[in-house]
Amino acid sequence: MLIVLKHDVTKDEIDHIVEKIKSLKLEPHVSTGIQRTIITVMGDEDVIRELPLTAIAGVESVKPILKPFKLVSRETHPDRTVVDVGGVKIGGSKIIVIAGPCAVEGEKEVVEHAIMVKKAGADMFRAGSYKPRTSPYSFQGFGPEGLKYLAAAREATGMPVVTEVMDPRDVELVASYVDVLQIGTRNMQNYNLLKEVGKIDKPVLLKRGMSSTVNEFLMSAEYILSQGNKQVILCPRGIRTFEDVTRNTLDAGVVPIIKQWSHLPVVADPSHAMGIKDFVLPAAMAYVAAGADGIMVEAHPNPEDAFSDGQQTIDSAQLIALVQKLGKLAQVIERVE
Ligand code: PEP
Ligand code: MN
Repeated sequence: MLIVLKHDVTKDEIDHIVEKIKSLKLEPHVSTGIQRTIITVMGDEDVIRELPLTAIAGVESVKPILKPFKLVSRETHPDRTVVDVGGVKIGGSKIIVIAGPCAVEGEKEVVEHAIMVKKAGADMFRAGSYKPRTSPYSFQGFGPEGLKYLAAAREATGMPVVTEVMDPRDVELVASYVDVLQIGTRNMQNYNLLKEVGKIDKPVLLKRGMSSTVNEFLMSAEYILSQGNKQVILCPRGIRTFEDVTRNTLDAGVVPIIKQWSHLPVVADPSHAMGIKDFVLPAAMAYVAAGADGIMVEAHPNPEDAFSDGQQTIDSAQLIALVQKLGKLAQVIERVE
């Protein structure tokens, strides 16, 4: 249920409503917007329905929440969420670029890669230290050791760092080293992992499951928000279809839908969507034209030597071109600061 408060509601009135809801063993989530403050009430629908909420001072109206993903829905949070990652604002007017290799490849290497990404004009660095590989015989990543290298890359460049976490037991450790925790496509419905990242105070980049619907994707985000962490970035990254000329099928069409249904920012991944380096740029343009707030791409100084996903990894010159092209596109679609 949604409680829309009056324009002139006082802090004491809000506190009173919150206490009242808690006393009935229901869960209030207060969202203070520019126009209005809204309280989302979670819990037993029957108890909520019986409440004479409009009789309480400060309450303007009470409405049901139509979407199953309640905290993620724009119904409960009409203003867009801007996730601030060390000064990089995701979901504001500027289109942001996150770039870096698929995997952490060593301490010296990761610093070199981050410097390349910074020089190309990107905003954040990415590299995986825990790699979810299809084959158990493929390189599995540096694990905890690689987190230290990522911290060194941030130290060297000042850029915030994104890395994947695969195991609920590693969440605290990973959060102590990096700025954004990535949940990969294979773990989008790993509910224990989602609950764990929901308890931390660090942004989470949630990738769309390769065979998941938009509703399932947003319900997974709901898991994270329901635990208290509201800093979630949604990442479409292509889905599995019958098409076999690309690694996945570009899902740019879901971006305007997600942006209409949810207040959370969208940073899309054209590298995994296409799986072929020459098509990363047009796919990135399509995502941004469709309303994405940013792009995450795999980039490496020598893609042919990359430890993983080299075929879809762009080089330094292609990354520079991508940043410049997205900058021009941002002007056309009026997404500049
Ligand atoms: C990645 O970003 O390197 C990755 C493994 O992505 P996904 O989970 O989308 O396959
Ligand atoms: Mn990859």
